[in-house]
Formats: sequence, C-alpha cells, structure tokens
Amino acid sequence: MPLDDFKFIRPGKIRVRIAPSPTGLLHIGLARTALFNYLFAKKYQGNFVLRIEDTDIERSDSGFEEDIIENLQWLGIEWSEGPDIGGNFGPYRQSEKLPAYAKYIEKLLNTESAYRCFCSEDELEAKRQYAMSIGQQPRYNGKCSQLSSDEIRKLLAEGKKSIVRFRTPNEKVSFKDLLRGKIEFDSNLIGDFGIAKDLATPLYNLAVVVDDFEMKISHVIRGEDHIPNTPKQILLQKALEFPRPEYLHLPLILGPDRSKLSKRHGAFAIADYRKEGYLPEAIINFMAFLGWNPGGEREIYSMPSLIKEFSIERIQKGGAVFNVRRLDFLNGFYIRQKSAEKFAEICIPYLIEAGLVVPAFKSEQYPPAYGGMNLTQTYKVSGTGEEVNFNYLQNIVVLYQERLKKLSEISELTDFFFNDKLEYNKELLKWKEAGDREIEDSLNKLEKIISEIKAEDCNKEILEEKILPEAEKIGLSGTKDRGYLLWPFRVALTGKEASAGPFEVAEVLGKEKVLKRIREAKERL
Ligand code: GLU
Repeated sequence: MPLDDFKFIRPGKIRVRIAPSPTGLLHIGLARTALFNYLFAKKYQGNFVLRIEDTDIERSDSGFEEDIIENLQWLGIEWSEGPDIGGNFGPYRQSEKLPAYAKYIEKLLNTESAYRCFCSEDELEAKRQYAMSIGQQPRYNGKCSQLSSDEIRKLLAEGKKSIVRFRTPNEKVSFKDLLRGKIEFDSNLIGDFGIAKDLATPLYNLAVVVDDFEMKISHVIRGEDHIPNTPKQILLQKALEFPRPEYLHLPLILGPDRSKLSKRHGAFAIADYRKEGYLPEAIINFMAFLGWNPGGEREIYSMPSLIKEFSIERIQKGGAVFNVRRLDFLNGFYIRQKSAEKFAEICIPYLIEAGLVVPAFKSEQYPPAYGGMNLTQTYKVSGTGEEVNFNYLQNIVVLYQERLKKLSEISELTDFFFNDKLEYNKELLKWKEAGDREIEDSLNKLEKIISEIKAEDCNKEILEEKILPEAEKIGLSGTKDRGYLLWPFRVALTGKEASAGPFEVAEVLGKEKVLKRIREAKERL
C-alpha cells in the first residue's frame, strides 16, 4: 500500500508514547516498543513521549524509573516530553496527577457508567475459580451493579471496602489495528471491569485512557499482549467522549523455543546486555529487526538509516524470534568499526572491573577522572604494580578487536599481559610429537635470538624477521613444521591455548618480559 493511503500519517501530527510501569528494569520488550515508537515519531516529525505509569505504589520503585530512563538514553532513544524534561502535557508521572483521574472517575460514577462494587476479594476469587473450573472465562457477574444509592450510602457509611467498576455496555467492540486489520470483541465476555480502587487510586485501563487523551496521543503502538485491553479502553473513551487513537500492536518477541521471551531465556534487561559489553548501536540494529524487516539483504542499519527506512507496512504480525547469535554478529561488526582509541576507551572499564588494572589517580583528579578513560589517565597493573598509560592498554586490547563479540570477553583474553606469573600446565607447551627436549631446544633458540635483539627493536617486524627463518628450519621425523618453534613461543608468552599471535604479543610485552617468560617456561620442563 503506498504511503499516501495511510491517511493516519500526517507529518507533524504524530504523538506516540511508551508508558512503562516502573516495576522492573528496562527489558528488551519495552526497549523494542520504545524504538518502534521513536522511529515512527522521528520519521514523521512527530513527538515521542515517555510517561511513567506508577499508580501501583506498592510495586513501583523510583530505582526502576531511573534504570528505564538511563538505559533508554544510553540506547540513544530520545523523547521530547517526559518526567525528566517536562513538556506541555504533563505531569508525566501518573502518581503526580491523581486529581485528574479522580475527576473522570467521578464523572463516570455520576453518569452511571461506573458503580461501586463491594464484593470481597475472597468472594471474587471463589467465583473466578469456579468459572475456570467449568471452562468459562472468568468475569464479574454484575452483583453490585444494581445497588440503589441508599444501599451504597449505607455500605460506605459502614466503612465497607469498595472498588469502582465500569458498567460495560452490551455491545460488540471493534477497532482497526493498523497491522492486523479489524479486531472484534464481544463485550459480554469482558464483563464489568475495575477502573479504580477508590477516587485516588485509578487502575491501569482508566489511567491510560485519560493520559492518552490528555497527552493527545495519536497512535498507540504497544505489544500484542495488550490487545485484550484495547476494547476496554475504547469503551472507556466512548463513555468519556474522548476521540480514539489509532492502534498498532507489535508482534511478541519469542525465545529460541518460540515461547514468549522472558527472564528464563537468560539476559533480558538492557542493563545486563550493557554490562556484558553489547554496544548500543548493535542492540538498536538488532531490536529494529524484532518484528520489522526492510526486505533485501542489507543487515546493518544505524539509527539515522532506520529512521529513514522505517515503515509500519513492513512490521510483521508473527512473533519475532530473539536470536542471540545475530546480536553477537552485529556487536562484533560495530566493535570492529571503532577506532583503536575509542575501542580502548570502552574496553578499559572491563579491565578495571576484572581487577586487572586500577586507575592511578592524582588526588586532585579523583573522583572526576574515575571512569573517564581519557588519554592522560595512568593505570596501575594489579599483578605487577607497574604503572602503564592509556596507549599501552590500547596496544593490548586492539590485538583482540577483530575477534571480540562482546566487550566483557576482553579481560579473560588479555589477563596474561597483567599477571606476573602465568599459570599453565607444561603439557600445553608441547606441539604435536614434541617432548621436553624438543621444547627446551626451541625455547633456548628463542632465548638466544631475542637476547641478541636490542630492546627498542623488539617489535613484530624484527621479531618475525629473526625468528621465522629459524622456524622454517625446524621439524620432527623428517618433516618441517614451524609449529615446533612458534607454538611453545606463544604458550610461553601467554599461558593460553588460544591467543593473539606470538609476535604481536611479544612486541607489547617488550624484550625483558619476553625473556623472563621464556626462562620460566623452561623451568617448567
Ligand atoms: N504500563 C503498561 C505497560 O507497562 C503500558 C501499556 C500501554 O502502552 O498502554 O505494559
């Protein structure tokens, strides 16, 4: 369908929102919803609003709100109105606008579109259980809907607890989902639903409807799991004479087992991915494809290109499977895009976190320099006590830039640079059929060659020039195999089965440490 046919898209008129409840960390599902709303708003020069739905005081926590805000910002998803920056349609925290809801709850009570229900939780629960036991969808039976005003006054005077219920009219409710087309509900199956615990405590459906109206939201773009709420919200809009926004329900995100993605599928919170060393560019690129596909072969999309290419016609209906291998692939791609300096900057926090290095502060720099991986900062190597500069750490980490999938891998890959003593089994030094004697010969050869190189010449090129010809000569049982020299060389320097090549590693370590490690390797034999 050509864009012009989407008459609901009027550039400059779009107002979308996300409305998280601060009852948990920012997770992939919410971040994906935020991204799609953001892209849609940006594409049509609209506004993207952040609203915090914190009317459930017991479950809401300002720490979660901070996490949501901080990590959305980290991802580069920006809102033009929100609790942190204000705007013309605030407040943007539901807890700060309770009188606004009270006004509408009262209006619904006065017009008899809502009534007070005095049924106890136990009574309701028993009825719910019964309905389910006979295979029916539980819904309120309307017991309190016919109470007279005298009865209500009396019960209130007695201090009986009540909630406010919407008097659901007996009619079919249908709406056009921009993705799924017409969706119809029989309101009989919905029953009279709660809209407030009391005047000061609105419940979700009422608060959303009031906010979407007052904030002039044009399009509600949210997860498919909210489809059952939409008819309730539409009925409330009708009763309150509010216009209806457009609706678009995004497909569910599924785990590899094709069930709804949840914590049991592993990492879930954006903060966890961030800690593991996924880059925001990679997560954004990855999330954009969770339910949207521009078609074609291209996989790499930066935020600006997503804004340009995004279209709701290309959102899919079926569930979007979360494939962590794809995220790793994208992350590796964006890691390789970084300049060496930028890469070092983002890796160093992981070296610090692993305790391999500690920022060596001048007292007046503390604390502002902490975490500021600037070029002048010096670091103390925990394992040796020596002081090193940014450049030294950069030379180490760039050896792994090509192969890294996530930043947190960097400490384990590079720890041997920072430890004075390596721990490995002497068997690791052995290449193919080599025994202790052959290894010792190789190590002796290396020691001799390297001793003759000047310290300032101990770089990759010169080492290769001196060592490779020797390596070509070496072999066992009549066949030449340079592994007999190069493998023990690399293991002696790194203590690892896999690592960067020995010449690069030797260059960073420097002559003195290289010789020390070769001698230590000999002592193991
Ligand atoms: N507070 C709801 C949630 O976190 C918002 C749903 C909506 O977007 O209407 O799921």
